[in-house]
Amino acid sequence: MAQIRIENVRKEFGAFTAVQSSTFTIEDGEFFMLLGPSGCGKTTTLRMMAGLELPTSGEIYIDGEEVGQRPASQRDIAFVFQMFALYPHMNVGGNISYPLRSQGMSKADAETKVREVARILGIEDILSKPVGGLSGGDRQRVALGRAIVRDPKAFFMDEPLGALDAEFREHMSEELRALHNRMRATTVYVTHDQLEAMQMGDKIVVMNHGVVEQFGVPQEIYDWPATMFVAKFLGSPSMNFLTFQGNVAPNDSAVLVGDARLTIPTVRETGSGQLTLGFRPEHVTLEDDAPIRGRVLASEYLGTTQIVTLTTAFGEVKARVPSDRVVPIDVTTGIRPDPRSVTLFDTQSGRALR
Ligand code: ATP
Repeated sequence: MAQIRIENVRKEFGAFTAVQSSTFTIEDGEFFMLLGPSGCGKTTTLRMMAGLELPTSGEIYIDGEEVGQRPASQRDIAFVFQMFALYPHMNVGGNISYPLRSQGMSKADAETKVREVARILGIEDILSKPVGGLSGGDRQRVALGRAIVRDPKAFFMDEPLGALDAEFREHMSEELRALHNRMRATTVYVTHDQLEAMQMGDKIVVMNHGVVEQFGVPQEIYDWPATMFVAKFLGSPSMNFLTFQGNVAPNDSAVLVGDARLTIPTVRETGSGQLTLGFRPEHVTLEDDAPIRGRVLASEYLGTTQIVTLTTAFGEVKARVPSDRVVPIDVTTGIRPDPRSVTLFDTQSGRALR
């Protein structure tokens, strides 16, 4: 079990900075997600925590001990790679016991430990089978068994389910989460899939261009994005952005979006110039007398709800409304964002005004 803290950690590859100065803490026993688009620096951040890459500057602490310049072998962690490579010439038990045997543990002790791990993973009945004929799911379980058998302080996983089809992926992510609930070992997990991050993570770091944009529990990041990038990256369809010229003051949190006056109780900062009003499709109602006017472009049926797309003078809006509501194409209607769920951004910096 381990707490992992990274402080002002930075990574340069030649003239290119892959990770800008980053600071955050992963608490003992957390399932922690590093989330962001391709190339944002999440794998590099993970590899630095694991000791597979050394930081250019900054410190990495595991349980209060600075390990930043130590190699992986001296960090007591286990790395689970995307491709679950198994040793093909060994059976399941041999694959799982390998890390113990190579540390010099006796055969009898290793066997006891392997049985315990196999019981946790539900693979006791295949211990003597060759790995060649195993199903994809069993191969993943064997690879996980090999990672957990040493009781490492922490697990590091880089898109471990990336290569799987959607259905199997969902099944394995549930298994991983259930395994974590039983073991409670600190786990750091890289993904570019926002849904996977929200479903599995106790906490999420969102990265973009080597910068930590936000760090927090999934609900906080989804409901209170710190930047327009985070707002856009999480949620599907993503947050609506209406851009307008205006100003907002702490003692009067009303803004004028064209002629429409909206009070936003969540804003306490001052902002002026180009502002962006952000609200999620599920936080909009369509009402004839609502102040922002929009023309219906399309409607997409999704079962109990439909996504209605409207065009306004300030940008496009998607609204999630009940399917039984009839919303004819080309009709002009009013759009009312729920003021308690609106985030106001400074458009140029992309930062939320709070
Ligand atoms: P992906 O999901 O595509 O792996 P990522 O967010 O995990 O993306 P990283 O793999 O951390 O991103 O890479 C961040 C940036 O650093 C990328 O632009 C990548 O090309 C660059 N990079 C990573 N490793 C090296 C290296 N060894 N030498 C040079 N550049 C590198």
